[in-house]
Formats: sequence, structure tokens, C-alpha cells
Amino acid sequence: MSQNPALFEDDTDTTSDGLGPTGRPWPDLPEPTAPGPGPKRATIIAMTNQKGGVGKTTTTINLGAALAETGRNVLLVDFDPQGSASVGLGVNPHTLELSIYNLLLGRDVDIDDVILETNVDGLDLLPANIDLSAAEPQLVSEVAREHTLRRVLKPVRDRYDVIIIDCAPSLGLLTVNALTAADQVIIPLECEFFALRGVALLTDTIAKVTERINPDLEVLGIVGTMYDGRTLHSREVLQRAVEAFGDKVFHTVIKRTVKFPETTVAGEPITTYASSSPGAAAYRTLAREVLARCPGA
Ligand code: ADP
Ligand code: MG
Repeated sequence: MSQNPALFEDDTDTTSDGLGPTGRPWPDLPEPTAPGPGPKRATIIAMTNQKGGVGKTTTTINLGAALAETGRNVLLVDFDPQGSASVGLGVNPHTLELSIYNLLLGRDVDIDDVILETNVDGLDLLPANIDLSAAEPQLVSEVAREHTLRRVLKPVRDRYDVIIIDCAPSLGLLTVNALTAADQVIIPLECEFFALRGVALLTDTIAKVTERINPDLEVLGIVGTMYDGRTLHSREVLQRAVEAFGDKVFHTVIKRTVKFPETTVAGEPITTYASSSPGAAAYRTLAREVLARCPGA
């Protein structure tokens, strides 16, 4: 392995000119305080990008775990028939008796019988499996079909500070349900060639949902993932994203590291699997940015 220090210059999050990886100065990010007592009303965040493999599930799990570390009650909603968020939290989707599918299409299922506690304090999971792929065609004929997930989450909204919905890689009815249930959208953006191509279609869909169904929906931010500061194109993608979306781009970027695939095998977030790793630190910083942008969370 090469020991050329120049190759490792991206190991710091600040360049010599004091700028962060997105080319802007780092903002002040206050240490998160625990939420106060009293009634809660969860901020619901949809993690969306119709492209697969961009870091939606990884960001859902690890941002969720980092928020739970701050004392927040967090519910993760696996809304992908692949069940990756469930697998990533150590749940075997094939052996589930009840999943989000039963809540979407069954009338008499209690959400408390479906929610699972994870091994992380304060982090719960609404699991999914392949059954969810049958939900989409079945939902089409339902009344208020876009509002189904919103209705499912309503009874637990006062128990959580944050609910994060891990969307499937599509812009179909499931994702529209997530956007209808959500207050905020986070868009993970892989720092690779062509990553920005699909984002216009996604922001179009978000705009339509905002206009027609959910006027409160906002884009909370775009987070660069799989970032490799040694490659020019990683930096170019971020630069273009900042040109196009300005301050919507989070200052935090998530670097490419094999630690993330390892956490999937381990079935736990990076914040517990490798608590002092740079990847865990990055998601903790992202959590601070999310809390700074979403004072209610
Ligand atoms: P999506 O949910 O958008 O399909 P995932 O979060 O499942 O994307 O990520 C796709 C794959 O890339 C997974 O194997 C995951 O472990 C891996 N991965 C995610 N983020 C990173 C990262 N920052 N560095 C390296 N691998 C990553
Ligand atoms: Mg996924």
C-alpha cells in the first residue's frame, strides 16, 4: 500500500484553505441537546432517490442511529421490498410474520405488533420484506391511496422525535406515499459521474406532490455519499450540486469506505459497529446538520 501522504489528503474534512469538502466554510454546528419532555410530534423524513445504490438505506440507518444517540426516539420505516434497512439492523425479512405490508393493506393490524426494537437504544424499526412489492398494485384501487402510509404512521407520531422512511429506488406509488407522509426529504447523491442526471426528475416529482397533495413537504437537503476526495470527479459532482442546489447541499459528505458494507453484514449501524471511525463521525455531523435545519426534530 502506498504511503504517499498526498493520497490521504482527504482524510481531513477541511482543506488547507479552511473550506469543507463542498467548497464552502463549515458552519457552526452546536452540540445537540436532548429533546425536552412533553408531547412529541415526529418530524417525518423521506430518504429518496430513484437510483439504487446511492446510500439511501445506509443513510437511513446511520443517521437514525446518530439521532438516537442524541437522546431522540427514532423510528425507521423500511419502505423497500428488498428489506435492506431491516437486514442492516439484523432482522431477517424472510421470517417476519408481520411487516409494513400488513399495515398498509390490513385494516385490523396494530402497528405495535409490527414495530421492532433494535439493539440500539432509542431506535425502532418498522420492517419490510418482499410482500411490500405486492402492495403497490393493490394500493392503486384504494381510496386516498397516496395517503396510506401517512395514516399508518399517525398513531405513533406522538411517540417519536424523528421518523425516517427508507424509500425503494423508484418514483412509483410507494415513494409518493412516503412523500405524502413526510415533512422533509433527504436526497442522497452518489459522488459519481451522471449522479445529478436523475435529480431533476426527482425534484419534479417532489414539486408535484407538494403542489397536489402535501403542501408542507420540503427538501431538507442533499447529502453527497460515496465521496472520494482523491478523485477529481467526486469533487466536481459536489461542486455542481452546490451550483444547482446551493445551501440545500449538506456540508457533511459521506466518504466511500468498506466499513459500510461491513456494517450490513454485522447487522448494526456504524455508530455501534465502529463507533470511533470517520464514517460514524460523518453521520454524527450529518445528524447535527439535520437538527440545525429542523428545529422541531
Ligand atoms: P440504496 O439504499 O440507495 O440502494 P445502500 O445504502 O444500500 O444504497 O448502498 C448501496 C451499497 O453501497 C451497499 O452495499 C452499502 O453497504 C454500500 N455503501 C453505502 N454507502 C457507502 C459508502 N459511503 N462507502 C462505501 N460503500 C457504501
Ligand atoms: Mg436501499
